[in-house]
Amino acid sequence: MERIYIPQLLKMPQQMDKFTFKENIKGFKTLTPIKGSLAVYHRGGFLEVELTADTILTLKCDRCLKTFNHRLEVDTSEIIWLSDQFEDPDNLPLEREISGDDLCESLPPDGYFEVQSWIYEQLSLALPLRQLCNNEDCEPPTIDESSTITDSRWAALTALKSLGE
Ligand SMILES: [Zn+2]
Repeated sequence: MERIYIPQLLKMPQQMDKFTFKENIKGFKTLTPIKGSLAVYHRGGFLEVELTADTILTLKCDRCLKTFNHRLEVDTSEIIWLSDQFEDPDNLPLEREISGDDLCESLPPDGYFEVQSWIYEQLSLALPLRQLCNNEDCEPPTIDESSTITDSRWAALTALKSLGE
């Protein structure tokens, strides 16, 4: 995927670039190529980027530790401020309140928008925090001795219960 030279967008019809893609992204391991479409709008002071993408990848279940295939779908948009000002974090204007927006990404207005690394970021953010396979037989892996441990716990519980009666 080509990176986009930001001033170039201003010369495009409607100051935007839109394209579809179907390819693998370096460092992001998937079973199928990542399919999607990306639109980048130049809004003067900021870029508005819209992405829809989907792919299938192999994850490892947090519970049973088996691998499973997961369909990853992304439908997102982001504002990227065009500013040279915030490049040096020690040089933030003091009188300005630092809001959440200022912590957003920003790019120099005459710089490049790195398409592939931005998509990589969005896909990574879309990965489930808790990865569960949802198989019927999904259970934590058991060790051989565990059955006796469980049995003794039950025995202790039963003993307590009978004491209370
Ligand atoms: Zn599982």
